[in-house]
Amino acid sequence: MNHTPAPVLAIHGGAGTLSRSNISPEQEQAYHATLQAVLRAGQAVLEQGGTAMEAVCVAVQGLEDCPLFNAGRGAVFTADATHELDAAVMDGATLAAGAVAGVTRVRNPVHAARAVMQNGQHVLMVGEGAEQLARDAGLALVEPSYFSTEARLAQLKAAQARAAGAVLDHDGAAAMTRTPESAPLHEGRKMGTVGAVALDAHGHLAAATSTGGLTNKRPGRVGDSPLIGSGTYADDRTAAVSCTGHGESFIRVAAAHDVCARMAYGGLSLEAATQAVVHDSLSAIGGSGGLIAVDRDGNVCLPFNTEGMYRGIARVGQVPESFIYR
Ligand code: ASP
Repeated sequence: MNHTPAPVLAIHGGAGTLSRSNISPEQEQAYHATLQAVLRAGQAVLEQGGTAMEAVCVAVQGLEDCPLFNAGRGAVFTADATHELDAAVMDGATLAAGAVAGVTRVRNPVHAARAVMQNGQHVLMVGEGAEQLARDAGLALVEPSYFSTEARLAQLKAAQARAAGAVLDHDGAAAMTRTPESAPLHEGRKMGTVGAVALDAHGHLAAATSTGGLTNKRPGRVGDSPLIGSGTYADDRTAAVSCTGHGESFIRVAAAHDVCARMAYGGLSLEAATQAVVHDSLSAIGGSGGLIAVDRDGNVCLPFNTEGMYRGIARVGQVPESFIYR
């Protein structure tokens, strides 16, 4: 009898509070359309026998290239009106991992993270050294202005006008009475990080996360996304996890690894482990956000403690599903 679970991909585009403006079906549809397109692209990789690592990188690249999400093009601004991008990947089969932080010119930071992993010498590279490695790997570099959008600049200005300090991406627009772009989750009050997790036909897991971080963050600040064990983790024995939310909180509870640890040491199910991390550990320190996770049996959990999270799931052989609200 064949017990091999069908390959599956799950994605997120950030968690946050609901927008107070009236969202038209068309505006909501724009988010679903991107989530669906990204799910289908990753699903096709898995369908053709591609690896979980390939699938999560294809999915995250699709989300990085879409200005609706806070990663790659459309990334939020730092307090100095610059962009500093973070990304990570992890391969559950080998525990190989790669990450970049504070890059300003790599068009697709997820590919730079994968290049760090493939290079094999180090796990986490920052700033110019990371960019040099990306250049050596033949990756596309762009002018920093490539990442900028009017909507993100308006978010920064609003956050600074309110002296709001660092603001989560999907929360940043809540700092404004009117958002420059209407979105289902409040552009001022959402975390717009993107991520993907997958189980492939070979039974292997992988995770990837990419972000512009928090609106109005101090230059030099690094969040949870590129920190292996905090925002990103994958281990074939347990699960692949990608997080989104207030990065400082996810770092403090080592959120992504904690999901795997609860499964490995405590024998918890994916459902119990992810619920405990999001609703107990994170909530206990006031951390808001969510995560996506898949285990070796193909179970998928997408918990969050905010009002919504852009998310979706695509099993090979089934129609992809995308969601925004609870
Ligand atoms: N976790 C990300 C960070 O703190 C932000 C987000 O998820 O939107 O950098």
